[in-house]
Amino acid sequence: MENRSLNEFLNDESRATDTETQNTAVTAARPTMVWTPDGAVCADCGETVQRRWRETTDDTERLVCRACKPWE
Ligand SMILES: [Zn+2]
Repeated sequence: MENRSLNEFLNDESRATDTETQNTAVTAARPTMVWTPDGAVCADCGETVQRRWRETTDDTERLVCRACKPWE
């Protein structure tokens, strides 16, 4: 993940949220995002973040930060 300014991050964040909302309207709702007000550790990089995404593989489920989430 390349370094980006906070401003770029926030702009990207709102675009991602818009896309997610549209996708949710078309497909079944999936609880992919987890909000932890006090912050929680990313399972991948170990960074403490409030917002994490559910990453499910064959038999495991991890909560990772936005930078570690493999966007499709
Ligand atoms: Zn991470």
